[in-house]
This record gives sequence, C-alpha cells and structure tokens, in this order.
Amino acid sequence: MSSYTPRNALITGSTSGIGLAIARACAQSGLNVTLNGLGDPGEIEAQRAAIECDYGVRAFYSGADMRDGAAIAAMVRDTTEWMGGVDVLVNNAGIQFVSPVEDFPPEKWDQIIAINLSAAFHATRAVVPQMKGRRWGRIINTASAHALVASPFKSAYVAAKHGIAGFTKSVALELATFGITVNSICPGYVWTPLVEKQIPDTMKARGLTEEQVKRDVMLAAQPTKEFVTVEQVAALAMFLIGPAAAQITGSNMSMDGGWTAA
Ligand code: NAD
Repeated sequence: MSSYTPRNALITGSTSGIGLAIARACAQSGLNVTLNGLGDPGEIEAQRAAIECDYGVRAFYSGADMRDGAAIAAMVRDTTEWMGGVDVLVNNAGIQFVSPVEDFPPEKWDQIIAINLSAAFHATRAVVPQMKGRRWGRIINTASAHALVASPFKSAYVAAKHGIAGFTKSVALELATFGITVNSICPGYVWTPLVEKQIPDTMKARGLTEEQVKRDVMLAAQPTKEFVTVEQVAALAMFLIGPAAAQITGSNMSMDGGWTAA
C-alpha cells in the first residue's frame, strides 16, 4: 500500500503553536484536518474557517479534553465520521509546569502525564485498528529535546516526554509490518505561547530576568542560539507523512539547534 494517498489528518493541540502550524501545513498539502485544543471559541472557529478558505479542504474541530481518555476515544470516532477516516494522527497537545520537585503540585504532575503522555496512548489505540485495516498510517508524536535529555525543575514534563520517546519506539515495532510508521519530533525551544508562558515561572524558580531566561536558560542549551520555528517543525512532520519517509519508523528526530549533540 505504499502508493496510498492520505486524505485526512487529526492533530491534537492544534489551536495554537506547533499543532496549528502542522494542521495548516497538512491542509496546504490537500489533507482534510481536524483541529483540537482549548481556547476562545470564536478564535478557534476563525482558525478552522481560515483553513477551509485558504486551502480548499474540509476542517473540523473537536474540543476533546486530552486529560480524558473517553473523550479522546470519542474524538477519534467523531473525526472518523466527519472526515471518513484518520490517515495521519499527530499527538501534539502538551503543557508545561516549572517547579522544584518538592513543591511540584501533584495535580500538575497528573495533568502533565495525562496530556503529554497518556493522551497519545488513548488516541493511538483508537486509530490503530482503522490504520491496520488500510495497511497505511502515520503517527507523529510531538516529543521534545526533553525526551532525550533533562533540565531541572521540569520533572513531570521530562518524565512524560521520555515516556513518549519509549512509546514511539514500542508502537513502531508493533506496527512495522502494517504500513504504519510511528515517529516523534524532538524540538528544542520553539517560539510559541507554551514557551512564552513558562518565562515567568522560570524567572521565579531561578531568580533571573526575562532576558536572562531567554539567553542563559533557553538558548543557552541551543548551540545555534536561535529558536526553532513552528514552520520548521511542520515541515518535518510533512516529510514524515510523505512517501520518502516510509522506512523511517521508531525514530525520535531531533530539531534542536544542536542541543542534544552536546
Ligand atoms: P501551545 O501552548 O502553543 O499549544 C499547546 C496546544 O495544546 C494548544 O492547542 C492547547 O489548547 C492544547 N492543549 C493544552 N491542554 C489541552 C487539553 N487538556 N486538551 C486539549 N488540548 C490541550 O504549545 P506548543 O509549544 O505549540 O506545544 C505543542 C507541543 O510541542 C507540546 O507537546 C510541547 O510539549 C511540544 N514542544 C514544544 C516546544 C517549544 O519550545 N514550544 C519544544 C519542544 C516540544
């Protein structure tokens, strides 16, 4: 089935940042898309309508909460009905919380593990049967450089992202003979609302100014001293969906300005 042409993509956490960029790139290449995520209903509807208008594909929206396994299963069912199937699943939704481990609120730990790790399991298990049926599928997980290396004060995020790296490899092995590839993208610091929002907490946790956090904490780890862009991450996702990537599976692909080379 290597000649199969994908038609539909479901991207979790796509009302903002990296997920929205991946959704728009999918639509630009002719895929119908389902957006998912939180946010102002009017803004989300405007993003959905803009995708249809800009690219002439169908765009849907699911408000499923990625903390809720049953809601994720329902999202996959709804999406399958709306679009006629899910050829491409991008597990992208994610949150961050920065705190010393002894002060880390247990409810924040649970939320991060649920959204950044368990949601990928719930969505993957729900789409795999139909992908197996077509003997074609692409599952892309947005992991992080923190899937490969750690930073202090991000225990839940690092644990969840290391979990995603392992999940990616395990499921890739299970699905290797079904025409389904499973990979993760491991970006370094990408300039998105998620990064912007963690600046105040990092300032507090480390006693630094905003400029010091950007230069000495964030870009200190990135040898190129530049943020990754959402368009660059989306371009890698599109490559992983395309035919040239058919033999790439179980891979955790770094896009981190050299961070994890050190
Ligand atoms: P973002 O905050 O811009 O987007 C996060 C998305 O997840 C939003 O659409 C948000 O609504 C959604 N989301 C959050 N909680 C949700 C919930 N309970 N249910 C449904 N949707 C929910 O952040 P981003 O930077 O674009 O992050 C996207 C992914 O990329 C995350 O998994 C993040 O860990 C990863 N990542 C980001 C960076 C970076 O530097 N920005 C680096 C490496 C990895």
